[in-house]
Amino acid sequence: MKVAVLGGGVIGITTAWALAQQGAEVTVIERQAAPAMETSYANAGQVSPGYSTPWAAPGIPLKAMKWLFQRHAPLAIRLDGSWFQMRWMAQMLANCSAPRYAINKERMMRLSEYSRDCLRSWRTQADLHYDECSAGTLQLFRTQAQLDAAQRDVEVLQACGVPFELLDRAGVMRAEPALANASAPFCGGLRLPNDETGDCHQFTTQLAAKAEQLGVRFLYGKTVEHLQHAGQHLEGIRFTDQSNLHADRYVLAAGSYSRNLLLPLGLDIPVYPVKGYSLTLPITNEALAPQSTVLDESYKIAVTRLGDRIRVGGMAELGGFDLRLNPRRRQTLEKVTRELFAGGDLQQAQFWTGLRPMTPDGTPLVGASGIRNLYLNTGHGTLGWTMACGSAQVLADQIMGRQCAISTEGLDMGRYSAHQPDNKSLVSAFG
Ligand SMILES: Cc1cc2nc3c(=O)[nH]c(=O)nc-3n(C[C@H](O)[C@H](O)[C@H](O)COP(=O)(O)OP(=O)(O)OC[C@H]3O[C@@H](n4cnc5c(N)ncnc54)[C@H](O)[C@@H]3O)c2cc1C
Repeated sequence: MKVAVLGGGVIGITTAWALAQQGAEVTVIERQAAPAMETSYANAGQVSPGYSTPWAAPGIPLKAMKWLFQRHAPLAIRLDGSWFQMRWMAQMLANCSAPRYAINKERMMRLSEYSRDCLRSWRTQADLHYDECSAGTLQLFRTQAQLDAAQRDVEVLQACGVPFELLDRAGVMRAEPALANASAPFCGGLRLPNDETGDCHQFTTQLAAKAEQLGVRFLYGKTVEHLQHAGQHLEGIRFTDQSNLHADRYVLAAGSYSRNLLLPLGLDIPVYPVKGYSLTLPITNEALAPQSTVLDESYKIAVTRLGDRIRVGGMAELGGFDLRLNPRRRQTLEKVTRELFAGGDLQQAQFWTGLRPMTPDGTPLVGASGIRNLYLNTGHGTLGWTMACGSAQVLADQIMGRQCAISTEGLDMGRYSAHQPDNKSLVSAFG
């Protein structure tokens, strides 16, 4: 079976690998000259099933209002003039109720836990090395209110059987000794010992090379102009250089750009570009560097150890497809780095931005599209690397007609369709 995978980020490359493993004849199409050059390039480096949490959560609407007026806030909103942005934000608000949060978190965790298991198995099988570390992750609470609010997550972790440790201040310092020198106040943390970290760009690049050895064909520097369809069937791909490509099945894994490619087909997926930033700096003082990932709950910024570097990533800007580097965001990342781990050289830091392809409920869109031979693997938002291998495996199983190892309930576009009881209120609100 010939399968064309559109997009060579972490989602496209893992999909290509999973399909090739099952004997498909795969072609990856990517407009950049190499894999993982867009959003998968310099993310915060967490493979964090335990922290698979939708941003749409109870309390977020109130917090979001406060953040809009704060200097170092994790969220910024600039109206992009589109009806789609308004609709997407309203859908996100509608997912902030406690029952929706529990449903969404369970879906994300189900996929993420499976994904981590796939990652571990592929890492061994393909001998991948990407500054990986299996020392868990730590969510750091600066205030007692944050520690108290963690109870909600603890209940879901317990229900899903995910190991965790709720730590006091001393426990936090045992897990991350350099925090003893932190200038920021903190009162405790939630440690997830089964989480991992690593460099997503290195991982994706290496997996692409291994996939090529398996026979996957890569078309770099090729931009998809549009998808050619006839009714409920996709006939081919038209490139900007006016060439075409035909396959039996197609997988759309074009990250934040997936929606625009689907609109001419009459498919409107709720995937919005949510901009984030990162800094990558060399470690100069080992005693003041993190061991693994520390997620600062106050600023929603993750500080991650990647070999001899520190990656600091976070922030969410809703403002369309804008890739300019905002110096104010850099100041916030630098502030958190200085306050928690002063062991890196900020003068040498590389500043980067990427657009998270995000759904309002946090769960990606993995599965059928509504067009018979076109499949979706997109919308992975804040945790695309965490969910990549599992999403790829689930989709490859579906395409190749195999039984999936996990339930696929709620993972595909079906949850946004009008006949879903869950979403009736959303749909009626937006027509
Ligand atoms: C600051 C930040 C921190 C993050 N931290 C984490 C983290 O710690 N852990 C985690 O799990 N996730 C994290 N994420 C999220 C994660 O990085 C993304 O979810 C993931 O990279 C999305 O992968 P993707 O393959 O869908 O998108 P992309 O990596 O953007 O890949 C899509 C590809 O499609 C190609 N493409 C698009 N349109 C076309 C076209 N018309 N023709 C040809 N090619 C096209 C693009 O060039 C691109 O390479 C973070 C994101 C950001 C921004």
